[in-house]
Amino acid sequence: MAETQQQQTFNFCSGPAMLPSEVMATAQSEFLNFQKSGISVMEMSHRSPEFQSILESTEKRLRNLMQIPESYRVLFMQGGASLQFSAVPLNLASQHLRAGFLNTGYWSQKAMTEAAKYVDVIEVGSSEGSRFKSLPDVFDVDFNELDYLHITPNETIGGVECWPEFGEIACPIVADMSSCILSRSIDVSQFGVIYAGAQKNIGPAGLGIVIVKDELLVSSELDDDIPRLLNYRTVAKNDSMANTPPTYAIYLANLVFGWLQEQGGVAEIEQKNIKKAEMLYAAIDDSRLIYNDIDISLRSRMNVPFFFHDENLQSAFLEEAQNQGLLNLSGHRSQGGCRASIYNAMPIEGVQSLIEFMKKFENSHV
Ligand code: PMP
Repeated sequence: MAETQQQQTFNFCSGPAMLPSEVMATAQSEFLNFQKSGISVMEMSHRSPEFQSILESTEKRLRNLMQIPESYRVLFMQGGASLQFSAVPLNLASQHLRAGFLNTGYWSQKAMTEAAKYVDVIEVGSSEGSRFKSLPDVFDVDFNELDYLHITPNETIGGVECWPEFGEIACPIVADMSSCILSRSIDVSQFGVIYAGAQKNIGPAGLGIVIVKDELLVSSELDDDIPRLLNYRTVAKNDSMANTPPTYAIYLANLVFGWLQEQGGVAEIEQKNIKKAEMLYAAIDDSRLIYNDIDISLRSRMNVPFFFHDENLQSAFLEEAQNQGLLNLSGHRSQGGCRASIYNAMPIEGVQSLIEFMKKFENSHV
């Protein structure tokens, strides 16, 4: 939420997404002079005691928020989520040079395409048959022959959130949680690797967070090909300082994690996220102008796409919304339509404003 001279705005961008207004205010107040150091965090050595303590606090807060077990390492990397599409196969192809993927949409497919450069990609399930709108069909696959299974629990573009239960399987599960990390309680111990780009629920774009089980930090079949900065063991050994880390992004992530703790943590924000999503989907389902046709049980709490029955109304809707301070509601270029991203930082008032605007628009267009 930001305040211009005349108008309050709410930013529904899918990412880089809005950050909590309190965090932005703190960052602004500390921008030129971080805690009496006389300089900005942006200008500070990553080896300085001040930055060391920011880095330690960031990790500690994340561990606390997600209840990350001691047997996992937290790595702060660069290249957002997409570079992990390469890092994961390079690091985890320890035996079979074969990885399984659950194909739930755009971002799963991006991850598969990149992994296919290094390992054999096996589709263990897919919802492509329903154009990624319903539960994926799971195929008969021997998990013993896979180095890992990759899932994308929240497909940011399709607006599909799917948390499959595989139970005890013979290979580690790797999850791209870019658009759902910290939005709900999860059991980290179910995963071998969790990774996320920061620009939705964490902080500025470019930072990538990787949570990896210690026992997976072993040599991989592809060791000789792993660029140093993509090698999890190198990054872990150097405490995320194998080169200069993205210091300012880490500083902002630390503030966001602190803000989330003040909100009552993940369990508390999850309840708010449920409420926001329920309100918005109810408004869409009640509307005569717009619809969302994702299976109800799979509707994303974070990214809510909606489409006009009469497509001619869409541009007027987007333009009028923008004029009302409801920003960035157009859908992804691959999909069209509209999309409201309502991550942790989106206050309930933002969702209420959007719903009121939808109703007003409907009243003047039916
Ligand atoms: N995975 C998911 C689920 C995403 O939503 C995104 C970005 N929207 C990415 C990966 C790619 O992230 P980045 O741009 O940080 O590489």
